[in-house]
Amino acid sequence: LASKALGAQRTIVQVGAVSIGAGHPVMIAGPCSVESRDQLLSTATHLAQNGCHILRGGAYKPRTSPYSFQGLQHDGLKLLAEARALTGLPIVTEVMSPQDVELVATYADMLQIGARNMQNFPLLAEAGRSGKPILLKRSPWATLTIWLQAAEYILSEGNFQVVLCERGICTSEASAGRHLDLTAIQLIPELSHLPIIADPSHGTGQRSLVTPMAIASLITGADGIMVEVHPEPDKALSDGKQTLSFQEYDALIEKAQKVADTS
Ligand code: PEP
Ligand code: MN
Repeated sequence: LASKALGAQRTIVQVGAVSIGAGHPVMIAGPCSVESRDQLLSTATHLAQNGCHILRGGAYKPRTSPYSFQGLQHDGLKLLAEARALTGLPIVTEVMSPQDVELVATYADMLQIGARNMQNFPLLAEAGRSGKPILLKRSPWATLTIWLQAAEYILSEGNFQVVLCERGICTSEASAGRHLDLTAIQLIPELSHLPIIADPSHGTGQRSLVTPMAIASLITGADGIMVEVHPEPDKALSDGKQTLSFQEYDALIEKAQKVADTS
């Protein structure tokens, strides 16, 4: 169902009023984690006024260590809904377990399946059944075929609203899973009708690389970009090193606009 052969036409995924895969790159931005009302609402307000189409923010966080901040969970979802009411931006947020899908789906406009859960088959099926659009991140260890087979678990539930997200793979050069695979962005449209976006925040792990790799992804033909943004990146409770300040985000938007104008 995910393969190109079945659908000559590329799928357009609808998230609120935003269309992904319709020809104009979609900008998704927001903090790695929802941390507080002030942090989220100030970020959402800045983004909404500066070229962002969809707000991201993690309420359930898949952390490498069980002692790291695990997210505000249900309270985080409520804050995301408040940010949507304030700004009008639709919300994408991660769901980590099948039992949480129903609750997360009552707040979110799009469900994110994280890299670590790309092959959590019960989660994929439950997310598929929710009827919500799904953002399916690539596991750093997955080939394109394995990734598309994961997407198949969602599509086979009758839900074709799936966006693929390249977020970095393992190589000998980069630290685990932090090497954005531009080739995947080029190749996926040859293999599948599903839209593909790039996440250069997780795909590089380093703030100075986020904007150049975002621009490279757009030039390669990505249907959108997802980046992490925080009012004070160095104080972020997760992923601060790869998070942009408001000013750095604005500079990225300006560069992305130039790419759009010349293509
Ligand atoms: C995230 O988007 O904050 C995240 C945890 O991403 P990934 O699943 O790609 O590591
Ligand atoms: Mn993150």
